[in-house]
Amino acid sequence: MPNEYEVELFRTAGFQRKTCPSCKTPYWTQGDPPTCGETPCKEYDFLGHSPMKRPLPLRAMREEFLSFFESKGHTRIKRYPIVARWRDDVFFTQASVYPFQPYVIDGVVDPPANPLCISQPCARFNDVDNVGRSGEHFTMFEMLAHHAFNRKNKEIYWTDRTVELCHEFFTDRLGVEGKLLTYKESLWEGGGNSGPCLEVILGGAEVATLVFMQYKDANGNRIPMETRVVDTGYGLERLTWVSQATPSAYEAVFGDMLTYIKRAIGAMKIDDRVLGEYSKVAGMTKIDSFADVRAIRQQTAQRLGLSVEELMSIVLPLESAYAVLDHARTLMMVLADGVVPSNSREGYFARLLVRRGMRAFRTLDIDMKLTDLVTLFVQMYMEDFPEVFANRTDILRLLDVEQRRYEETLRKGRDTVRRVEVELKGRGAAQIDADALVELYDSHGLPPEIVKEFAEMPVDVPDDFFTRVASRHALVAPKEAKVHAWSGTPPPSKLRVYEDMKKQKFFAKVLAVEGTGVVLDQTFFYPEGGGQEADHGTIRGYDVIDVQQIGESVVHFFTVTPSNLVVGKRVKCEIDWDRRQRLKRHHTATHITLGAARKVLGNHVWQSGAHKGEDEARLDITHFDALTADEVRKIERLANDIVLSDRKIITKFVPRELAERKYGFRLYQGGSVPGAKLRVVEIPDWDIEACGGTHCARTSEAGLIKILRTTRIQDGVDRLEYVAGAAALEHVQRESESLAAVRERLGVPANQVAEAVGQLQEEVRELRKRAEISDRRTLETALKEGAEASTKVLPLGDRTVEVHVSRVGAARLWQGTVNPGNAGDLKRLAATIIQEGGNVVAFAARNGSGSVLIARSVDVALDCLAIARTAAAELGGGGGGAADFAQGGGPNVDRVGEALATAVSNIRDALG
Ligand SMILES: [Zn+2]
Ligand SMILES: [Zn+2]
Repeated sequence: MPNEYEVELFRTAGFQRKTCPSCKTPYWTQGDPPTCGETPCKEYDFLGHSPMKRPLPLRAMREEFLSFFESKGHTRIKRYPIVARWRDDVFFTQASVYPFQPYVIDGVVDPPANPLCISQPCARFNDVDNVGRSGEHFTMFEMLAHHAFNRKNKEIYWTDRTVELCHEFFTDRLGVEGKLLTYKESLWEGGGNSGPCLEVILGGAEVATLVFMQYKDANGNRIPMETRVVDTGYGLERLTWVSQATPSAYEAVFGDMLTYIKRAIGAMKIDDRVLGEYSKVAGMTKIDSFADVRAIRQQTAQRLGLSVEELMSIVLPLESAYAVLDHARTLMMVLADGVVPSNSREGYFARLLVRRGMRAFRTLDIDMKLTDLVTLFVQMYMEDFPEVFANRTDILRLLDVEQRRYEETLRKGRDTVRRVEVELKGRGAAQIDADALVELYDSHGLPPEIVKEFAEMPVDVPDDFFTRVASRHALVAPKEAKVHAWSGTPPPSKLRVYEDMKKQKFFAKVLAVEGTGVVLDQTFFYPEGGGQEADHGTIRGYDVIDVQQIGESVVHFFTVTPSNLVVGKRVKCEIDWDRRQRLKRHHTATHITLGAARKVLGNHVWQSGAHKGEDEARLDITHFDALTADEVRKIERLANDIVLSDRKIITKFVPRELAERKYGFRLYQGGSVPGAKLRVVEIPDWDIEACGGTHCARTSEAGLIKILRTTRIQDGVDRLEYVAGAAALEHVQRESESLAAVRERLGVPANQVAEAVGQLQEEVRELRKRAEISDRRTLETALKEGAEASTKVLPLGDRTVEVHVSRVGAARLWQGTVNPGNAGDLKRLAATIIQEGGNVVAFAARNGSGSVLIARSVDVALDCLAIARTAAAELGGGGGGAADFAQGGGPNVDRVGEALATAVSNIRDALG
């Protein structure tokens, strides 16, 4: 059997297949290297002398690659967003092939060009702690790639041409001697696909991976894919590093910006040899844990003849400088693509970078901010990624807000740490452990270094702290299950709502009935989707209360089990048209409002959720702050301008690839959408979304859009709730009716209502003040009176309570029951009574449950807690508090009388 790795180039250009004596991997070479050539079988040997003919900065390297592949018949395509909006299984684009998964790979959608080349920014946060430590990790990197998608009837190129192109790029373009390149045989697997792969090794480093994706995993079996994919990846940062042969990748990638920071922190004089050795050792080690980092440090120190401490005093400030540059660059890209820092989803990672970055700045102790660095990066990238430049104002504003918020968090940090320490001590903990630390970061935004600064207890910081924190947020939460369901797979049925949006009545054949659900052969009912509630209506007189798309089927659900529906029979169906109109108006109003919010607040505004109901709709948007009244007014005004401008709303099905190219990824406001074709809903010059909802034909049909309220529902997300069309009219009617009622009662015209209410409030305050004075007098009089048995009426909040006063030994006992009683009022009354010496209080209250309150003056010797507990036992519960002021309660509310009696009798026993 021929070796599937033996491509034409290997046969014709004198390559030999060898097996590495060290790692046992087979590899191909034109030369005679002793091993496969990759770390750890060989150390990096390009540091100081590059195998490439000249050093190239990042931009030039990117251009070399893209122009080379263009000259070889590839179409250069624009980068895709670093936030993977078209997928719902990941937050970020992590490889150049992500944009083509799943639809292009599955053959559902045509690629934008074939073959193509691209430089795709990617983000990975799984080893964020190693950034800066390893000499070559980045949270953002560009993956250069040439991709070919071989369809059954259209072969582009496969292994032979791929390796030939790769070899030619390195040798002809970059001037690498052919015999310095080795090609290691390997197998690639990912995302349910697999195939053979060649790793291209140069100078000890893997500079490219050539994957031949050709199998699909189906139940553990490898079956050939319909579309075989050439999936290559060349790390732009790594190629740049190899070409410049600098001591670490950061020197090559960040160039002048790093020099600038090094100068600011006085790290200019660092011996390149120190860094070079560090990178070499790090390159040899697979870094899985901090123990590996420690081992690297030890080995490097040994090689240089330094102590680890000496080495670290040199390297540590540099690590912070690297990290801060890396984070600033990633933030620029992530924020440009519409991420708002927050404590959830993709926003979480942006926040993590801001906080780690600011922390690194603290370590460096230089007067700079992330915004300064991002400004410089925007200039560096503006020609290659002009959209970053276009969004710069928004990016810097988001960053600035986030920086200030963090400073605020730190100011409050001391108190927070104290509180947590008290709590931990209460639980018997001796230190602030990893879990508490993660919690302090997650809930209060306090990183371990800050906690350490404020804490009195010892702090145990795990070395992979941020990696742990990031892993908490790495997964996309699964969707909630639907209320109505069908067991098994319902028979397929035809959803025809998109063919005729005006259809109100139709006939259809019953295909299946189960429980309260029915499947018809066809339906014009809109099933719940895209945040829009399902249509209601009737099927043969049965009320439809829900419609769900389940697989290839649409299932209608009734309030009852339909006894009269026979499989195979035709039935009359009717859609509740008034409800449909209301849903439609709310849906269109949602698109209009989203456009308005983006205009008023900035380009970072994305829909993070939406719901369109019959009586109300809501839209959740990403934004860094609560909306001000002025912003809300502007959004409402602008939305209604669009309504009044009577724009035609264009709805059409567009091939996915074309839609993405024409409209960009803003399409995916509602999340990812499956299928080869997208239904695109466009309000010209305002909003374009991939959306399956029902919509008005023109904006004017939405009617008045009235924003009812806005709430900050979570960090980074604001909710707008509004009404449109008939629902808006009803809302305005209700409001104006209640205003009329108020006006009538006050006897003033509408424009004086606020003033009149203000006056009333003033009067109420005055009256309350007088009542309080009189209450206090009543109480003072009662306290001054003697202790002979009597009943007194005492003020209790806005009411009174009858209290029986009697003598017990040398003290006065005050006892009473309230039905129902406000706990706060009772406590205040008791506190007032026991302020004076020689008093004991026993109160009971009857609410949802029963409760007792026992209190005494300081000069009375009585254990109130014991009394309260015994009394509470009568109520079926327990008590708590102190010896001089205790409370108890329990569910047996009808035993309140007995509970009080028990308390009084025990008090008499104790004092009498
Ligand atoms: Zn090897
Ligand atoms: Zn929509």
